[in-house]
Amino acid sequence: MTPLRYTGLRVAIVGLGPSGAYAAAHLLSNAELDVRVDAFERLPTPWGLVRAGVAPDHPNIKSVTRVYENTADHPHFTYFGNVHLGRDLSREDLLARYHAVIYAVGTPGDRPLGIAGEHLPGSVSASSLVAWYNGHPDHRDDAFNLRCRRAVVIGNGNVAVDVARMLTLSPADLARTDMADHAVAALSASRIEEVVVVGRRGPEQAAFTHPELRELGQLAGVEIDVDPAEVVVPPAHRELAPGKITQRNLALLQQYAARPRPDRSRRIALRFLLSPTRIIGEDRVQAVELVRNRLARDDAGSLRAEPTSERAALAAGLIVRAIGYRGEPIPGLPYDERRGIIANTDGRILSASGGPGREYVVGWAKRGPSGVIGTNKKCALQTVRALLQDMVAGRLSVPIHREPAIEPLLRSRGAQPVALAGWRTLDLFEQARGRAAKRPRAKLTRVGDMLGVIEAQRRLSA
Ligand code: NAP
Repeated sequence: MTPLRYTGLRVAIVGLGPSGAYAAAHLLSNAELDVRVDAFERLPTPWGLVRAGVAPDHPNIKSVTRVYENTADHPHFTYFGNVHLGRDLSREDLLARYHAVIYAVGTPGDRPLGIAGEHLPGSVSASSLVAWYNGHPDHRDDAFNLRCRRAVVIGNGNVAVDVARMLTLSPADLARTDMADHAVAALSASRIEEVVVVGRRGPEQAAFTHPELRELGQLAGVEIDVDPAEVVVPPAHRELAPGKITQRNLALLQQYAARPRPDRSRRIALRFLLSPTRIIGEDRVQAVELVRNRLARDDAGSLRAEPTSERAALAAGLIVRAIGYRGEPIPGLPYDERRGIIANTDGRILSASGGPGREYVVGWAKRGPSGVIGTNKKCALQTVRALLQDMVAGRLSVPIHREPAIEPLLRSRGAQPVALAGWRTLDLFEQARGRAAKRPRAKLTRVGDMLGVIEAQRRLSA
């Protein structure tokens, strides 16, 4: 086997969510490599969607950050938080200082429904609602209509289920989570009594996973409403054998449909074979018009939703579209408009000339918003292998600068980078604030406050 040793390989990772952390881990754990990894994160806080996307009532999923923290402790790893690509650093700056650059920037945008009324106040994306309740600084001051009786969530994935749960958790349950304080306060005072989750296809085609569906049925004080007629699979669809998971989901939905419904203060209704056709309202959302679908097989043999002529309006004050996320273009990098990702082959980003370059991509920015957190580990390995193959083949040209000297460069541009020690200060501070209220952590949600805490600690220890 060709020895991998490459003296002084320098890799920049842009974005330190799960996929960036796994890419760093794959590089740093390779005993045959002499590598330094610098990670640049837009926020002072790392771990991307584990902090700002995973539901606040799922602390076990968040414990994966322990693995990332170990990677961050590697002596050849350096963290630069609060650094914006495009503001504090350019792509060219990175290419001039590193042999390779890995983009781990996720898919911060959301897919539009493309229907009339979608931009009325009260019609929001799940990405903004999730970021708001998880305390992402960009969404700190967002406001959502929680004074209405009914919210409608469009989509049948795990994000839709997360949103339905967060909109119906009791104040006592919310208060036990690491949800941002502003969201705990707003959701505790919410008047929403019913959340209708709308899937365009049938229960067997729903994308949510079984544990998430089961969890819905276990929420204290929340009734689950499933129409028995919607969870009967027509014989015509049986021939397309459903997978094990969808069969389990169907069986559980049938149980929900059959179980007696105690009169509870909050309700989640799961509706299928319905698509929104327009959002109704003059200056804010008042209702959504839904069309009844039937399933039809397309040329590829998959079951697609086909609208019938049956339409009805459902009154609601909040419409959340949870129909998938989309990446955003990065100037200079090729973008796959259709899939909403950075155009790549197995993680290699093609250069402007169409040939292989020194830039790579991992995670949702590479393959689209799918899979669970662990999926990013395998995904990052594929990209890191491609990078190392390019290195061995001599395709990584030597950067112009002998040393990255990032810190002085950032300071000269007026940036305030946050080092790993700064993040650790924040982490301990948030955990201590949380402990006082018997919560896993109480997050800081403004960048200025985060920088203030780090600076105060620095002065104390100086
Ligand atoms: P998703 O799993 O891809 O689900 C998207 C849903 O939106 C599907 O039901 C899809 O229906 C529907 N949809 C798409 N376009 C639509 C349209 N125009 N009109 C109506 N419905 C439409 O995406 P996601 O929920 O955003 O989740 C993203 C990833 O994160 C998934 O892999 C998910 O499992 C993961 N995640 C996991 C957890 C967890 O493990 N607890 C929590 C949150 C997210 P069709 O199937 O008909 O296209």
